[in-house]
Order: sequence, then structure tokens, then C-alpha cells
Amino acid sequence: MRARDLKITDLRVANIDGLPKHMILLKLFTNDPAIIGYGEVRDASSATYAKILKSRLIGENPLNVEKLFNRIKQFGGHSRQGGGVSGVEIALWDIVGKFYKVPVYQLLGGKYRDEVRIYCDTDVDGKHTGTDMGKALKKRMEQGFTFLKMDLGIELLYDESGTLNAPIGMLEDMKKYSMKAICHQSGSIDKSLMFGKNYEIFTIPHYATVIHLTEKGLNYLEDYVRQVREVIGNEVPLAIDHFGHVAIEDAIKFSKRLEKYNIAWMEDLTSWQNNKDIKKFADNSLVPICTGEDIYLAENFENIMKAGINTIHPDLLTIGGLLEMKKVGALCEKYGVSLAIHMAESPIGFMAAVHAAAALKNVLAVEFHSVDHPEWYELVNPVIKLENGFMQVPDAPGLGIESLNEDLIEKFRKADCDEPWKDTLDWDKEWANDREWS
Ligand SMILES: [Mg+2]
Repeated sequence: MRARDLKITDLRVANIDGLPKHMILLKLFTNDPAIIGYGEVRDASSATYAKILKSRLIGENPLNVEKLFNRIKQFGGHSRQGGGVSGVEIALWDIVGKFYKVPVYQLLGGKYRDEVRIYCDTDVDGKHTGTDMGKALKKRMEQGFTFLKMDLGIELLYDESGTLNAPIGMLEDMKKYSMKAICHQSGSIDKSLMFGKNYEIFTIPHYATVIHLTEKGLNYLEDYVRQVREVIGNEVPLAIDHFGHVAIEDAIKFSKRLEKYNIAWMEDLTSWQNNKDIKKFADNSLVPICTGEDIYLAENFENIMKAGINTIHPDLLTIGGLLEMKKVGALCEKYGVSLAIHMAESPIGFMAAVHAAAALKNVLAVEFHSVDHPEWYELVNPVIKLENGFMQVPDAPGLGIESLNEDLIEKFRKADCDEPWKDTLDWDKEWANDREWS
């Protein structure tokens, strides 16, 4: 088939859950039965964000990636809303690669490296000590991982009297309604968090909780980190996530305690829109601050870079896909910001992240959440194989995924969603005057 004759014919999705998160896989079909583009909507998102794009894409030539991206860009937004546009953009690149028989990294300008460093988020359930966390991280190191991240948050202090300072009753509300909202988020986000009092608590920004740590609380958490370092040593990078929605002044206070522990970064200490607090932290702490997993489009990173962010970690399935990741990489060069790639999705999102990381000039590592789920690796053919904490960049066409494991997709299908790959005929009628000016 000539390139100019290739057309998009269908878009379908499959919702899976349990490996460990809710993942939405996407297929973009073409009039060449041998060429199907694989994409993915952001974790814990809605397939609607992709399906609404279908009628804007049918009949179009999938090889014109930037043209189609600009057509659908207006339907994306921050966090999960970026997932539809991003998932389609990745599927388009997969199609281009398969049509011209080249790997995606080559389409992005070639690669800087043959293998990509992977770091896995590590959490320990329930009440535990820094030594427990250190042992869990040590296990990662024994598996070959060379860059570590742990969750460390104020939920550890809930049962330690005299460690937190907050309006009377607020902490009880948090425990009662929404423990998950400020705890680490292994597995899927519970739908119940999105309603009623849960939603209110889940979405309080850091500056509005006025939660502070007492000296006793600071001592407790510092001792936790000391215990972790005692087990894993001082030589491996260690990042910290999910500190909790506390006042930025207290994040700064705690970070001063951590300076001697060589922390790679502290993550999302304020909502990313809050440039004032990012600047305050950057001006007053010697621990790097990181954010970015919920930001749509590269252009929206520039203000946080101006505010003094040290590290960003965009999610490919929120930022808008591979070209936006390339653009944000260029902004990192301009502002002297380091970059990691946030990734909590299936092997489709993972392989897209691997190609992006191969094609970016500077990248620290790609995140990974599924190390304890052996079936995650088998969701695609060929199966994913990490080697000593690194992923080899494949040279096969497109993303390097030949097919999906439909048996596993059926096994892990999400209970409250349509069956995998159900037709999306209902969305063919969707249209609007999409012109963004008059
Ligand atoms: Mg995070």
C-alpha cells in the first residue's frame, strides 16, 4: 500500500486491573490489516478520553502524526485527561514505525543510548519501620536496580501522639474518610475516593490543609530515613514520594533534616501549579524538588522551570505523547533541569517510555510499578525482560510490540467496564465545531 492511501478505520479499548493498576489499552486499526497501532490511556483514567477522539480520526492518514495531534490536542487536559490524546499519539507513532519498518526511537531522531535505566517505586504496606523499608529497597538492589524511590509520608505519624499539628478533627477525618488520599497509592485508585467527603479530602491542596509537623514528628521521620540508609548504604540514589499534603514550610524543615542523607529528590511537595511554593522550596532547601506527572503539554513546564524546579518527571500518557516529551527534553536543556519519566502503566506505556528515554539527550531513569507482578511482563509479545535494572531498547518496528496477550487481558479485565475491544460504534456520531477561534 502507498503511504498516502493508509487510513485509520477504528479505535477500540480494553480496561484491565490488578497488575497492579487500572490500565486502558488502546488499538488504532488501519485499512492495512497487518498494521495496528498500540497505545494506552493514562493509568486510573477513563477510556472516554480516547473514545471521544475516534470520530476526529477515522478516515485520516495515521502517518501525519503532528497534523492529527494538533487536531485532537484541544481534547486533552492535565493529569488523566491527557490520557486520550497521549494514547492516540503513541499509537500513531507505532503505526508509522510499523509502516516504514523502523523503531519509534529512530523516528524521534535516533537514540542516545542502547539501554534505559529503570527505577521501581517501592512501598511497604501498613505500619512499618525504616528498617523494613530499607530491606524492601535492598531487595530491589539485589534484583539489579540502581536507582531507588520510596514513599514516605505523614500517615506514618497518625498513631504517634504529638507528632502532627492540624486543626482539631482534621486528621481524624483523613483517617476516617480517605486514608488512601495521603498514603501511598499501590493498586488502583478507589472510585469511592472521588465522591462526597472523600473527594473533598482527596483534593485539598497542600497549602490549604495547614498540617504541620512537630519536632517529635520531624525526629520520627528523620530516624526512619536514617534506618533506611543504614540498610541500603549512602551510595545509591534514593528519591521520596507521597510526603503528604502538608505546608511547604514543613516540607522545607524536613528537607533540611535530610540533607545529609543524599536524597535524589522529594516529589510533589506542593501542587505543581503552585509556583510560589516551588520557588520557596527551591530557594530554601538543598534537597532537589521534583514534579510533573500531571502536566499536559511541554509548554506548561516552563513556568515551574522558571520557579526553580530541579527535576521533572512527566508521564508520557499525560504530557501529550512522544513529541511533547522531546519538546520538554529541549526545555530541560534550556533551563538546566534533570528529567525522569513517570510510568505506572502497562508494557505499552512502558515501551513508549523506553523509546522516549532512548531518544532524549539527558534522562535519569524510567519509573516502574509492576516489578512484583510477573504477569505484567507477559501482557505483550515479545515479553518484557529487564536486565539488572535496565531495559534494552528494541530495534523492531514501532514500539517493538508484535502482539498483545489476549488471554491475560481477558483474565485481568476490569469488572465494571465493557468487555475488552468492544466495538465503539456509539462514538461514530460524535462531532462538534472544533474550531478554537471564530
Ligand atoms: Mg509520584
